[in-house]
Amino acid sequence: MLLIRCPYCEQDLPEVEFTYAGEAHIARPLDPAALSDEQWEKYLFVRANPRGRHNERWRHSFGCGRFFNAVRDTVSDKFEVTYKAGEPRK
Ligand SMILES: [Zn+2]
Repeated sequence: MLLIRCPYCEQDLPEVEFTYAGEAHIARPLDPAALSDEQWEKYLFVRANPRGRHNERWRHSFGCGRFFNAVRDTVSDKFEVTYKAGEPRK
């Protein structure tokens, strides 16, 4: 069973308590109406999808309910680190 550390609860917990929420550190444009269709499409749909180290957003859905970020290796599925939302990219 895969264990994920919630940075708020400060516990390693089973993955079934968590929900993947996409790539981390995707900032919403300040003025979406000023973007071209291509720029808006890129913001909505284009993601890095790397092989290896990946910054991801997760939610402790069946625990504290809070969103946090994690660095996970997409090949080995191992979590390198988890950190609170709002902290700089690791
Ligand atoms: Zn939690």
